Amino acid sequence: MQLKRDSWAEPYKIKMVELLKMTTPEQRRKALQEAGYNTFLLKSEEVYIDLLTDSGTSAMSDEQWSGMMRGDEAYAGSKNYYNLEKAVSEVYGYKYLVPTHQGRGAENILSQIMIKPGDIVPGNMYFTTTRLHQELAGAVFHDVIIDEAHDSNSEYAFKGDVDLNKVEKLVQEYGAEKIPYICVAVTVNLAGGQPVSMKNLKELRAYTAEKGIKIMLDMTRIAENAYFIQQKEEGYRLKTIAEIVKEICSYTDGATFSGKKDALVNIGGFLALNDFDKFEEARNMVVVYEGLHTYGGLAGRDMEAMAIGICESVQDEHMKARIGQVIYLGEKMQEFGIPIVKPIGGHGIFVDAKQFLPHISQDDFPAQTLAAEIYLDAGIRTMERGIVSAGRNSKGENYYPKLELVRFTIPRRVYTQAHMDVIAESTARVYERRNEIKGLKMVYEPKYLRFFQARFEQL
Ligand SMILES: *Cc1c(COP(=O)(O)O)cnc(C)c1O
Repeated sequence: MQLKRDSWAEPYKIKMVELLKMTTPEQRRKALQEAGYNTFLLKSEEVYIDLLTDSGTSAMSDEQWSGMMRGDEAYAGSKNYYNLEKAVSEVYGYKYLVPTHQGRGAENILSQIMIKPGDIVPGNMYFTTTRLHQELAGAVFHDVIIDEAHDSNSEYAFKGDVDLNKVEKLVQEYGAEKIPYICVAVTVNLAGGQPVSMKNLKELRAYTAEKGIKIMLDMTRIAENAYFIQQKEEGYRLKTIAEIVKEICSYTDGATFSGKKDALVNIGGFLALNDFDKFEEARNMVVVYEGLHTYGGLAGRDMEAMAIGICESVQDEHMKARIGQVIYLGEKMQEFGIPIVKPIGGHGIFVDAKQFLPHISQDDFPAQTLAAEIYLDAGIRTMERGIVSAGRNSKGENYYPKLELVRFTIPRRVYTQAHMDVIAESTARVYERRNEIKGLKMVYEPKYLRFFQARFEQL
């Protein structure tokens, strides 16, 4: 008899472990003060469970580590580049590849070759580095995500969808020729890892084809997006993640990619394009900012590990376990009554700080405060995704995002189910004493991407 396995249990076993350091409450209080109440400024040694990000924090497989040993460290034409090119073309279907040191390197090049000053770039919610590169190239970003994305209580399954009416409005106001491309993120990080539906992508492709507007994918978490399509969208239940990933890409003209998320590596990224002329421009520009076009700021071994990771990322069993673990944590938090963004997204749990700490006004940084309190309780490091991350507009005014979230990002293949229990229990303890928590004031604010380095004091 064959046993049917429903659990999301991991499709791997552990070969090596890294010991964690436990800290006392006094040590954590001191560390937090020294870090200016910014979890980005904590030393990783001071952290027990690190949920700051899923970026570059994955555990590589034995295959990937073997790939590291096959690094061909040639300045030009490394065989690892060709292996990466093959993986990108086989898994995603894009014709041309420009490797970059990570995602933002690709964003810089894409923005510079596509955007003219005064252009408009619509996107399904902003991402910090993506929007900044668009702005530095002279564009104005417009959010065209559906309204449900800004409502943490909406249970809509595809909160990453683009609102075509919002795009049409921009086209009418500015003209299609002012819109070089629409940036579509799969999944939408700042909405809580929310997916885009295939139906929406198809409609957007039909619309943009008619208007002569390109679609550029921010496909950092495309395999996670594909999993949600497989599980929730009609007609995709019997398709593999690999098939769905390829179909997503087929409706777009190119993509920027951070290998540090889906692709299970600690560093790496690329720009992929289908248009040869644009590729030539990008290939020329990468030499200025990253390195020769056959390494783009990466060592040969990094490209090899990324090529293998891309293939592992689209395996159905891997994705089932990956998202299964995230959902396990989210459901556990909900059992404790903790307000989280619903439905549970792909790469982590997003706790709604406005609902968690309703007595703290947005100007007193509720999500920043909550991230600090969660660290204090048990040494779990999370991050703010709210007013601090949103930054200021070109006039220097604060953006006031509707969502004020604390992100519990789950690194891939790193923590166990028991760690998930500890995380939920610790957050529940903070929730019990939520009424005693006071806000923060910002005492140092850097000019760019302030959330990384800003410092705070307790009110
Ligand atoms: C991480 C990320 C990026 C930028 O990639 P880096 O590798 O960190 O430079 C872009 N878009 C999204 C949605 C991301 O999550």
